Parts: sequence; C-alpha cells; structure tokens
Amino acid sequence: MPKVTIDDITIDVPAGTTILEAARMIGENVPPAMCYYSKLKGSGGKCRVCLVKVTKGSEKDPRPMPKLVASCRTAVMDGMEVKNVTSPEVIEARKGVVEFLLVNHPLDCPVCDQAGECHLQDLSYEHGAAKSRYEFKRRTFETRDIGDKIKLHMNRCILCYRCTQVADQLTDQRVHGVLGRGEVSEISTYIETAIDNEFSGNMIDVCPVGALTDKTFRFKSRVWFTKPVYAHRNCTKCTGKVTLWYQGEEVLRVTSRKDQWGESEAFICNECRYDKKATSDWKIEGPAHVDRHSVISQNHYELPFELPVTQKKLQ
Ligand code: SF4
Repeated sequence: MPKVTIDDITIDVPAGTTILEAARMIGENVPPAMCYYSKLKGSGGKCRVCLVKVTKGSEKDPRPMPKLVASCRTAVMDGMEVKNVTSPEVIEARKGVVEFLLVNHPLDCPVCDQAGECHLQDLSYEHGAAKSRYEFKRRTFETRDIGDKIKLHMNRCILCYRCTQVADQLTDQRVHGVLGRGEVSEISTYIETAIDNEFSGNMIDVCPVGALTDKTFRFKSRVWFTKPVYAHRNCTKCTGKVTLWYQGEEVLRVTSRKDQWGESEAFICNECRYDKKATSDWKIEGPAHVDRHSVISQNHYELPFELPVTQKKLQ
C-alpha cells in the first residue's frame, strides 16, 4: 500500500487513492472541496479550492511537483509528501481561488436559503479576503423554474457541475448540462421543461451554494431556526433514510442525510423529499448529527430531544 505524508501525518492508503481522499482518511487538515463529491463519478477538478503542494513526488522520484495540484484529481504515490495548511503558498492560492469564485457570486447570504449550510459561505469565511478587488459588473440572470419543485438562481452558481453529474448518473437520461464556456457558461435552459424524474431533487442536495433550491422550502425559514431529525420509512425507490427539518410540529423540508464532508450519505427519491411531509409518514430515529462548523450545530439539538407530539401519539 502506498504511504503518503500530509502535513506531517503519515498514512498507508490503497493504491489509486487521491490526496484528498487520503486526507479525509486522516481526518485532519482536509482540503476543502466545492466540486468533488465522492458519490458522483468523475466529479472534481473544476473549482481548484483543494489545491495542495507536493513537496516530494514519490520514493522513486522525490522531485517536488512544479505547481500546486488539485488534490481531488492527484493520486497518491508511495513516499509522496504533501503540504496543505502547512504551506503558505497553498493558503495564498486558495485565497485567490475563493476570490475568483466570488467574482460573480452575489453576497446575498442574508436572503439566500442556503445560508447556514452553504459551503461557499464557510469557505470564504475560512479562506476568503475581507474585500473583493473586482470592480466590474457581475453577470446576472433571472431566476428560473427547472421542473416543478426546483428553482435555479444562476447568479449564485459556481459551475461545479455536480448537478449535471446527478442528472447523468442518477437518472435515466441526461437532460441538462452547462452551455457555453468561460464567462458565458451557464446551466442550460432546456432543463426548464426536462427535469421531472424521480431523483432530480438530489441536485438541490449536491449544490454547494444556493443556486438550486427547493421551491417547497424557499423562504419558509432560516435553516438555523429548524430542527433536523433523522427518520426513515419503507420506500421502494430509495433507502428511505432522510433528515426531516422541523419547525415546531411542521416538517418544512426533507433532505438526504449528510456525512461529515457535507455529502449525501445516500440519494433519496422525490416521493420521500416532496410528498412525505407529515410526521406520521416517518419513523423518527432522533436528532440529526450536524458535524460541520455551521450555525445549525450551534443550537445543540442532540440533547435533550423530544419527539414531536404527533409522533408520540403514534407510539
Ligand atoms: S447549479 Fe449548483 S450544483 Fe449545479 S453547477 Fe451550479 S453550483 Fe454546481
């Protein structure tokens, strides 16, 4: 098994493991990822926030790599040495990438439904500069309905391609993509009529920013005023394991469960997501574990936890 050292911590990993995955196995100083998504094949290599410095290529060829590399796309070699947070060059480069990501992204967190669970918000807090140097007009788009339950706010899109990979890999037919290149790239307009398949809602869950939002939840509540609870049901289309987001007795939305990297543990179907919003539809398991440095975790839902009254009646 190849041995890799990341920020002075050494680990043996299976051959073919990428630097990012090796860092996740270590669990410390993990490079951020906006486009890589371990459950989506071929993801990564777009956003460049996971750049790291390879100071030793391998045992056989110890030369350092001449440029910073995308850790999500670079496989570990035996004896490789990598610097992430211990390299000022990496931190500086990441700051530059965040600045680029924010060139067109509006700073509308106060009205954005993704606030509180937005990866770009966390990233800019950790790596961004206090001020933008960009003086030109940002590109703007009208919001658009893509399918009957999803709203596309293209202004906020960072073109990570995750939603197109969901369409490609979870649905029968590839129905949308990114049109244009460079400054004029955008999620294609013909999806307006096309997205109506059973797993399309997962695009909302994989979108790292507020570009794709759930129309049944939009503007209903700030996420930190809701209470995430794990629940499951017998579903013939997906695992049926979800997070219910309560406000009082009401389920405001249903999402997939997220792992420690903010990725869906398992993709869920649209029936579970949109059509099952009564507590009686679900078997409640307990408070959801929110493991990100998010405001959602500030309310300490895990203790004590009370079943909603309606669920108590059912038991
Ligand atoms: S809409 Fe969201 S998931 Fe799709 S490319 Fe844009 S940022 Fe990524």
